Amino acid sequence: MQIVRIPVLSDNYVFLLLDSRHKIAAVVDPAVAQPVLEKLHELDVELVAIFNTHHHHDHVGGNRELIEEYPKVTVYGGELDKGRIPGQKVFLHEGSQVQFGERTATVFFVPGHTRAHIAYYFPPATPGETGELFCGDTLFAGGCGRLFEGTPAQMVDSLGKIRALPDNTRVWCAHEYTLKNLQFALSVDSNNEDLQQRYTKVQACRNQGEATVPSLLGVEKRTNPFLRWDAPALQTTVKSSEPVQTFARLREMKDLAGSLNKNVERSPYL
Ligand code: ZN
Ligand code: FE
Repeated sequence: MQIVRIPVLSDNYVFLLLDSRHKIAAVVDPAVAQPVLEKLHELDVELVAIFNTHHHHDHVGGNRELIEEYPKVTVYGGELDKGRIPGQKVFLHEGSQVQFGERTATVFFVPGHTRAHIAYYFPPATPGETGELFCGDTLFAGGCGRLFEGTPAQMVDSLGKIRALPDNTRVWCAHEYTLKNLQFALSVDSNNEDLQQRYTKVQACRNQGEATVPSLLGVEKRTNPFLRWDAPALQTTVKSSEPVQTFARLREMKDLAGSLNKNVERSPYL
């Protein structure tokens, strides 16, 4: 399975999964349809599946147009998103399995950003290869999604499922927010050397206009404050020794930092 990253809108990523043997493709969170259609034509593959992680417009905005072009496409989403995802045919829950070509993904129910959010995890095809995680707006490179419809406890539980996956899992999140996320991360975890190094790398990457997605889950575990609710450094920062409270305070600080920083371009989904 090959994965093609398509940058769309101001900072979204749409991912195309390709099975070249069968000349089929699946798309994850098509914010818009046009660039996806162009890529499908260019590669001469048929779209058989739309995998949606949640109902926000910048993740499902292209569904309708894609269904018009490929009427046989199957639209997948979380069962609690019933009525909110255009064209949804399959209603998934924790532990559901979805098939694409010869690969099977396991579904994680990861509420928090929205109450219905799911993630798709393709385990490694052969030992030693990377697993692929499509986590929408739940986990970002260096950050996590805002809590629109869920509680900190839910989000810790959801991120905990992700954190339990192997370190060499590639994290295909839906936005290029990494640099700003790491700026915040440094403000709460300033002595973390892995984080300092990552920030330098990501800065260089962005200066070249390169994408920072996918990232590796092992790196996230060491540097992303929203996976580190039990790290002593972060618990000291927020003056708590309780995991959910630690996470909640970090998320509040991030929300506040975002709303105070008028110079930085902001997305409502950050
Ligand atoms: Zn969202
Ligand atoms: Fe989003």
